Amino acid sequence: MSEIIIIGGGAAGMMAAVFAAKKGNHVQVFEKNEKLGKKLYITGKGRCNLTNACETEELFNAVCRNPKFLYSAFYSFNSQDVMDFFEKEAGIPLKTERGNRVFPRSDHSSDIIRGLQNLMKKYGVTVHLNTEVESLIASEERVRGIRIKEGKKEILCDQIIVATGGLSYPSTGSTGDGYRFAKSCGMKVSPCSPSLVPLVTKEDYIPQMQGLSLKNVSLTIFRGNKKVYQDFGEMMFTHYGVTGPMILSASAYIGDQTEKGELKAELDLKPALSPEQLDQRLLREFEGNKNKQLKNVIGVLFPASLTPVFLELCGSSPDKKIHDISREERSRFIHLMKHFPFTITGRGEFKEAIITRGGVSVKEVNPHTMESRKVQGLYFIGEVLDLDAVTGGFNLQIAWSTAYLAAQAAGNERE
Ligand SMILES: Cc1cc2nc3c(=O)[nH]c(=O)nc-3n(C[C@H](O)[C@H](O)[C@H](O)COP(=O)(O)OP(=O)(O)OC[C@H]3O[C@@H](n4cnc5c(N)ncnc54)[C@H](O)[C@@H]3O)c2cc1C
Repeated sequence: MSEIIIIGGGAAGMMAAVFAAKKGNHVQVFEKNEKLGKKLYITGKGRCNLTNACETEELFNAVCRNPKFLYSAFYSFNSQDVMDFFEKEAGIPLKTERGNRVFPRSDHSSDIIRGLQNLMKKYGVTVHLNTEVESLIASEERVRGIRIKEGKKEILCDQIIVATGGLSYPSTGSTGDGYRFAKSCGMKVSPCSPSLVPLVTKEDYIPQMQGLSLKNVSLTIFRGNKKVYQDFGEMMFTHYGVTGPMILSASAYIGDQTEKGELKAELDLKPALSPEQLDQRLLREFEGNKNKQLKNVIGVLFPASLTPVFLELCGSSPDKKIHDISREERSRFIHLMKHFPFTITGRGEFKEAIITRGGVSVKEVNPHTMESRKVQGLYFIGEVLDLDAVTGGFNLQIAWSTAYLAAQAAGNERE
């Protein structure tokens, strides 16, 4: 039996605690918040998209950084294992929705947290809330224990699992402490940036549409003349840019490029219709409304808050009568519907990012055990590692799988 300390009681920390304690180790979790799983609580808009019910090979395609590092982790504890764990061991019924996204059937993330807490209790895990770990104690390339902030108390142990998360949504407790711990042991930390984050735009007309949500639109992003990204889905305008599922995914692929300069973007507002079909549609609409004003007719094609911006960009007077619209003007409408432009100048901040890109370098961590290659008995799991994936339950799958591996490995040496 080993004395194992887990720093951080988020998704990864709680899962590791369950499996490490189940093996008969004495496990203590140190969490600086007043409760466990603060970030887990807000995942999936409070519903917790806990994994993705895809084939294991497909999990790798969803990982943006260092997918190969996850080979052992995903094959040792795949999404089916996660579902079995929550349904059979934690007793939480699950359901699978569009895109293989898995949620608790109750739609309450709190059920997932409660399930993990119950299992931690069952296997005798000791939880210390409101207890911030300040530093690690290590000597001769081996961990010895931790020092907690209040009272500078030292607690000795055989193994430490660092599950402190990244830098995103720092209000949930993830403030990058794990990076400091890694650096203090001579480990490398790759530069961090926010990912799965809203994008900042340049044009004044974008904030005018704040709150407007568009479904079934297509997005294309260019660097210069080169197409760098394309997707189809749902998005929303904000007071400084764009957000929504399609934009968050885009940020994972082109976010880093925003640091090198502006990117041009275009929306196809009617991707299901060719320009010719759109022209027919416009003609039909115009035919029966010849004496009406443009603003009242074009409005049937778009949501209300898009119409003034659209007409301004076309250079058309909203009060113009339909019978005065020229063929040229109609072509301008069609072009704008297929190529609605905006410029991406940057990405949002950590406080609104779903995930952190960068973190503890995976080159310094054994992919079969999650143990540091520099310091014996020191493990890193979850978002603190330089791993990130797109939306769809994949980031939590990374947390669960890496936690499982570390829990299997930690405690082995003294058994
Ligand atoms: C709004 C939002 C929605 C999301 N939705 C989803 C989703 O539906 N599906 C999905 O797969 N992913 C989702 N994610 C991502 C997912 O939440 C993270 O990938 C996951 O929580 C990472 O788990 P973790 O345990 O590594 O870190 P965290 O969950 O961040 O946990 C880290 C814990 O460590 C504690 N801690 C930090 N430093 C110390 C210290 N020094 N001492 C003691 N304790 C410390 C923190 O307080 C925190 O509780 C979402 C993220 C956000 C922000």
